[in-house]
Amino acid sequence: MAESPARAPFEPCRSACPECGRVLPATVSEEGGALFLTRDCPEHGRRKTLWRKDAAFYRELTRIVRPAATHDLPHLVDVNDAKIIAVDLTEDCNLRCPVCFTAAGSRPTTQIDADYLLSRLAALPHRRLEIALLGGEPTLHPDLPRLVREILRMGFRLKLLTNGLRFEDPGYAAQLREAGLQWVIYQFDGLDRATYLTLRGRDLLDLKLRVLQTMTDLKFKVCLAVMVVAGVNDGQLGELLRFGFRQPAVHHIALLPGSPLGRNTMDLSAEHLHAEDVMELIAAQTDAHITRADWLRTARFMQRVYRVTGNIDYRQRVCFFSMPLVGDADDFIPAVRLTRPWEWPRYAAYLSKAPFILRNFSAIDQGRMPGHFLYLSIEKMYGAGAMHIEDNGQCNTLYLTPDGFVPSCLYNALYRRERPSCVAC
Ligand code: SF4
Ligand SMILES: [Zn+2]
Repeated sequence: MAESPARAPFEPCRSACPECGRVLPATVSEEGGALFLTRDCPEHGRRKTLWRKDAAFYRELTRIVRPAATHDLPHLVDVNDAKIIAVDLTEDCNLRCPVCFTAAGSRPTTQIDADYLLSRLAALPHRRLEIALLGGEPTLHPDLPRLVREILRMGFRLKLLTNGLRFEDPGYAAQLREAGLQWVIYQFDGLDRATYLTLRGRDLLDLKLRVLQTMTDLKFKVCLAVMVVAGVNDGQLGELLRFGFRQPAVHHIALLPGSPLGRNTMDLSAEHLHAEDVMELIAAQTDAHITRADWLRTARFMQRVYRVTGNIDYRQRVCFFSMPLVGDADDFIPAVRLTRPWEWPRYAAYLSKAPFILRNFSAIDQGRMPGHFLYLSIEKMYGAGAMHIEDNGQCNTLYLTPDGFVPSCLYNALYRRERPSCVAC
């Protein structure tokens, strides 16, 4: 497949006013090794904000990812470029997390009409897409079991993002499982009580562990979704990885550095973790079993496969990093190291798994492969203050809206502001 046309990595670009969300032309400057965005809002004046903490890392990344020429942004993009279609089923939630990036429950509660959603999905051009049901808390939608059944009948892959509270009722969890739901992206921020008190406003640790057991008993496949916040749970990443390896239901751990979105009003400069920070934290907490070089090497490998095959599942982004791991809780390595024959003597114990990993590299998050594998990812979501419209518009997660399909960060940081009531319906 032909390579995407390259563009200058930074400009021309647009950003948004952090106060009002207005989309504006922006300039990028480099200071002290970091990248800043500056724009002039007619209402709020000049705003200069930190965009990327590590300019050298970003440059290296754009050599791999080569962002394409821009779509007709800021909002709508071609659904053929998508890997995941995200749908807000409801704006209500049974929690009121202080860090909720959708500010769930703070607006009049609306939910999407199930028949309307199914008709929109039926009109999608192909069935290779993954549908992600989220919100708010999607288990509050009364038609969820029917939606699960119908979406799977249409031939889509399906994942449900949930805080897990309704899975406390094993009967409800079994109902979803019987409807065909297999994959759950489960909010699971850490292994201590203080983390949940701070991030979720309640001590949820025991509940989280009980629900994970229910999911395991019902043979769900689980992705643990961890919001990573400096000074709260950023010291638990190594421990969470080892925990994930020990859980038979856990196939994927998704690390999501928090961003100032929705109810999350963290200080951009002091508390704001970037993907690069999380990579450093993981290296420090795994005795350098997973280094920043491994993340870049994996991205380079996946992007090469994308260029050769045209399979969008492999296409890399500047805000999403993935990493199949092979091993067990005591000893694991990034699978990409097995692609280097000169390193094989060091990793002889893992070599028998190499052909299997290579054949399934993009789909390795779809199931725990024979042996011991865990899929690790870091996804950074950007608020208006750190929004680079051209970069964020490359996202392959698109939200379904009444107007069309909107890239993830643009939806959460900008589109939500523009729509006073339900954003999906
Ligand atoms: S972060 Fe999730 S669980 Fe928490 S209030 Fe928002 S939607 Fe609900
Ligand atoms: Zn403004």
